Amino acid sequence: MKKHKNKNQQTNSKLHTTKKKPSIVYWLGNNLYLNITNSCPNSCYFCFRKYKNGIQDFNLKLENEPSAKEVIEELQKVINKKNWNEVVFCGFGEPLERLDLILEVTKYVKKHYWKTVRVDTNGQGYLLNKGRDVVLELKKAGVNKVNVSLNAHNKETYNQICKPTFEDAFEHVLEFIKKAKKEGLETEATSVTIPEVELTKIRELAESIGVNFRVREYISFIW
Ligand code: SF4
Repeated sequence: MKKHKNKNQQTNSKLHTTKKKPSIVYWLGNNLYLNITNSCPNSCYFCFRKYKNGIQDFNLKLENEPSAKEVIEELQKVINKKNWNEVVFCGFGEPLERLDLILEVTKYVKKHYWKTVRVDTNGQGYLLNKGRDVVLELKKAGVNKVNVSLNAHNKETYNQICKPTFEDAFEHVLEFIKKAKKEGLETEATSVTIPEVELTKIRELAESIGVNFRVREYISFIW
């Protein structure tokens, strides 16, 4: 006897078939972005991934963390479609959760495409990769730039808004920025515009370290 789906089953199956495949590689403007993890040691209350599944048409909620091979295969499909300005490690998570993958993919991009490579990070790479010289390894692999989310002028504010897992996260963010600058990476500190943050004080802090400061409007998740 032929079975008929009830209404709920039909709706579920429709939802299933229309769900977008997660994107490892996505693009906005002239930049190509790599979404390599959904993990992060922070739990910022303003984090875009808490409220959205992605950006524009791209679903950034990964079902599995991709391997370097998978990232490179996805990159190969689009990297020659446009003269992209930069290849940026930035997605729904903290890229430095996957340092080895960043190093491998960066080496590949530099060897075959000579593109500028940037890592957008929360600056906790040394906490996530104990015993490694993260900045030096990034530099040696060919990373050109780092954008570091500072978001606060002191530890108290940082802990309040970013809710870090690591007790000394704020100190490590500052240390990361200093090391990146010292190693000669193009380094920018950034902050979202939310009521709790004092942008003037964050700017002063960034400039006292000697790096550029950029404000990110709280409308997109790209920070
Ligand atoms: S550091 Fe970035 S990815 Fe992590 S919770 Fe905060 S906004 Fe989200």
